[in-house]
Amino acid sequence: MTDADALRRLQEIDLELLRISKEGRELPQRAKIDAAKAARKKVDGELTKIVGQRKDLEIELNDLGHRRRDCERQLDEISASQDGASDYRAAADLEARLTTIAKKLERIDFESDAVTERLITAERAEKNARGLQERLDTETASLAASAKEALLALRDRQEALTRERESISGSLPPELQLRYIKARKRFGTVAVETLDGNKPSACRVTLQPSQYSDLKRRAQPVDECPYCHRILITDFS
Ligand SMILES: [Zn+2]
Repeated sequence: MTDADALRRLQEIDLELLRISKEGRELPQRAKIDAAKAARKKVDGELTKIVGQRKDLEIELNDLGHRRRDCERQLDEISASQDGASDYRAAADLEARLTTIAKKLERIDFESDAVTERLITAERAEKNARGLQERLDTETASLAASAKEALLALRDRQEALTRERESISGSLPPELQLRYIKARKRFGTVAVETLDGNKPSACRVTLQPSQYSDLKRRAQPVDECPYCHRILITDFS
C-alpha cells in the first residue's frame, strides 16, 4: 500500500468510525424503548388509581353486606318474637318495623347493584391495565435485546476497523502520521481529499490553472491543497 492509499484509507476508516458511533447513539430502538417506558409509567399511575378505586368499592360492598346481614338478623328476631304479639298495637308496631327493615333492604340491594356494577368496571379496567403493562414490558425487553444485538454488531465493525487503522497508521512514516493527526485536528472529520480533475474532493474549489500545473509538475502523490490546505492525494501517473 502506498502512503497515498494508506492516507485515503485512514480517512475512510475514520469517517466510518464516526458513522458507527453516531449509529450507536441514534439506534431507533432507543427512542422506542423510551416511548415504551413512558407509556409504562403512565399505565402504572393509572393502575394505582384503578386499584385504589377497586379496593374502595370492595370495602363499600362489604359494608353493604354487613348492613344486609344486620337487617336479616333483625327480621329473624322479629319473626321469633312475633308469637308474643298479642294485641293489636303490638302487631301494628311489628308491622311498622318490618316495613322499615324491608325498605332498608331494598335500598341496600339497590346500592349493592350499583356498587357491583362499578366494581366490575374497575376490575375490567385493572385487568386491561395489567395486560398493557405486560405487553409494554415484553416490547421493551424485545427492543432491548434487538438494541444489544445491533450494538454488538457495531462494536465488531468498530473493532475490526480500529485494528485495520492501527496497522495502516503504523505503516505510514511518522511525519505523515503526524501530518494526518494535525490535519484532522484542524479540519475536523475530513483531513484528506483527492484531486478530481482540477477540483479537490472536499473543498470543491476549482483550482487556478497555475495551481494545477504546480501540482502536476511536482507530481507528489501526497501533496497539499493550495486552497484549503488539506492533505491532497494526487495521481498524475
Ligand atoms: Zn481543498
